[in-house]
Amino acid sequence: MTGNDRGHGRENEEHCPSWCVAEHEHQGDDHQRWHFSTCHELQLSELAGPVESEGPRVEVSLPFDVCLERPWGAKTTYVLIGVGAEQARTFCLTLESADRLAAAMSEVASDARRRG
Ligand SMILES: [Zn+2]
Repeated sequence: MTGNDRGHGRENEEHCPSWCVAEHEHQGDDHQRWHFSTCHELQLSELAGPVESEGPRVEVSLPFDVCLERPWGAKTTYVLIGVGAEQARTFCLTLESADRLAAAMSEVASDARRRG
């Protein structure tokens, strides 16, 4: 027993949060690792500009992924919002920010329905 063989198990470094589904052994070294949860995959509609011509904006379907993420060795959990097929746009919000965003979106949507 030399103590040099620390193995590859994540238990040597830190415990995964209960929601983590990552296979960390495939993520490389510690600085390349992060915890993540299963994603909620949402197909949302966005009003977008025409792609190639001038004209009215149209509704298009856009995939959103919403999941939890925590950097390796960190204590803080974030809500990841990945937008687009390749998650071309991502936001990593603190839990408090995610709550505030969700509340604000719900409030303005409710307001729009109420006021017509
Ligand atoms: Zn993990």
